[in-house]
Amino acid sequence: MKFEIANTFTDELPADPDLTNTPRQVEAAAYSFVEPRKPTDPKIVHVSSEAAEMLGIGIGELNSENFLNTFSGGRQIENSKSYAMCYGGHQFGSWAGQLGDGRAINLGQVSFKDDSYALQLKGSGQTPYSRGADGLAVLRSSVREHLCSEAMFHLGVPTTRSLSLILTGDDVLRDISYDGNPAYEKGAVVCRVAPSFIRFGNFEIFASRGDIDNLRALTNHTIKHYFSDTYAASNLIEFTKQNYIDFFREVAKRTLTMVIHWQRVGFVHGVMNTDNMSILGLTIDYGPYGWLEPYDSGWTPNTTDRQYKRYRFGNQPQVALWNLLQLANALVSLTEDPEPFEEILSEFGAGFKNRYQTMMQNKLGLFNFQKNDDVIIEDLLELLETTEVDMTIFFRSLSGFIKQDFETETDSGFVELKQSFYDPNAFEGDVKVAWKQWLDNYFIRLEAEKISDAERSDRMNLVNPKYVLRNYMAQLAIDAADGGDYSVIEELYELLKHPYSEQNESNKWFAKRPEWARNKVGCSMLSCSS
Ligand code: AMP
Ligand code: MG
Repeated sequence: MKFEIANTFTDELPADPDLTNTPRQVEAAAYSFVEPRKPTDPKIVHVSSEAAEMLGIGIGELNSENFLNTFSGGRQIENSKSYAMCYGGHQFGSWAGQLGDGRAINLGQVSFKDDSYALQLKGSGQTPYSRGADGLAVLRSSVREHLCSEAMFHLGVPTTRSLSLILTGDDVLRDISYDGNPAYEKGAVVCRVAPSFIRFGNFEIFASRGDIDNLRALTNHTIKHYFSDTYAASNLIEFTKQNYIDFFREVAKRTLTMVIHWQRVGFVHGVMNTDNMSILGLTIDYGPYGWLEPYDSGWTPNTTDRQYKRYRFGNQPQVALWNLLQLANALVSLTEDPEPFEEILSEFGAGFKNRYQTMMQNKLGLFNFQKNDDVIIEDLLELLETTEVDMTIFFRSLSGFIKQDFETETDSGFVELKQSFYDPNAFEGDVKVAWKQWLDNYFIRLEAEKISDAERSDRMNLVNPKYVLRNYMAQLAIDAADGGDYSVIEELYELLKHPYSEQNESNKWFAKRPEWARNKVGCSMLSCSS
């Protein structure tokens, strides 16, 4: 395992001159060099062979000592020095000052073929940004991050990847329910992979300190390496104000694309603070995230957000916009002209409306766009909200719905529809009338489609996944892994590589959340304790 090193972040941006690993404010630096903590007895739980392949790591190397040591934090990558990044952030709507990689340590950036990747360990000990916390991560949250990163990738959602999940052999103390009952859990380290882990908060911290030189250096670095298509390289001597505006426009575009995907698959991030917003528009920091089971725009899995539900499913687009405003506030120091930023932000609303509508039309199989499609969509969402319908099962089943199956109430169409209801007996009275009305309208609308039912169904199945990492599924994988059985992790990893395929042998995972999971910690509610 020999990597080609491409450490542009540390080569081009200023380092913290202080090499002591103690919590502190780090000024005028983009990162601090720090070494991962050596694990006592590392053991591999799971490796994403696809992420390994992406990095040029051969199958034969996955069981090597070198792999285990490197990705558990026991050994540095040759010719690379590990570091933690400095960033700030707005948490739950308020400026929180310096945050930084409190429990993430970058091993370095490597290149393979034409791409470069930052390799980052999560849970490998304290850094200058740990603010009094231990820098560690437990097995349960690491299983969730590892599986979900890979599942999101295969769903076609922009995301950081996860190479490996390794037990450290060290115990970690956590108070999972925040009720004064801490307990020891198994510690683990995940190796995340992304072209870059730069966040909105990296820009905000420099702007908040009036450190315009470093803000400019970071922005130039980001544009040069990750947004080179926003400028003509041949014309470039120095970045202009227009380059910064074009960069921001592209960040807004990528962020919008990411959130539209979240809304499409029913993903709730849970902690959309600006320090958890990737500048590349990748889903990052899998913490108390969750998947909509009953369709509910007001739902968030994060218990810390239970009161105001700032990061609820239906609010994610608004929050993305609010976060972009914070980024714009930082970048405006480079141009001293807020107007172009304001314009881009005001376009976001209209852009979202259009993209959301198209995404929903695709989910409903309304490919031959018609003027009143928004009414059909809104009526459906209202029905889903009021009836406790499983989002994934409903949309996947919808692709197979044809008018002939909905003539009388005992017909197969109604039987299938009711299977997506958490309470099939709810199909009565007003609910029944409303659903029948909606289906009538839907089938009339489908007459405007120019393709066969079979073709429509195939196309719908490309945007409506059959399998997602439901919270209870992750919990089953965690419970088994805690007892030393990693087969459920492997099973879910394989299943979720093909979320749009039928995989009928795995139909047990195409099922509503079981009753035991309705109010169980880890399934319907997650704390930030991880
Ligand atoms: P989050 O909201 O989980 O992304 O975390 C917010 C901030 O807290 C980031 O700066 C994290 O690095 C830091 N953090 C979270 N958990 C820990 C931990 N166990 N030890 C040190 N820092 C942490
Ligand atoms: Mg974070």
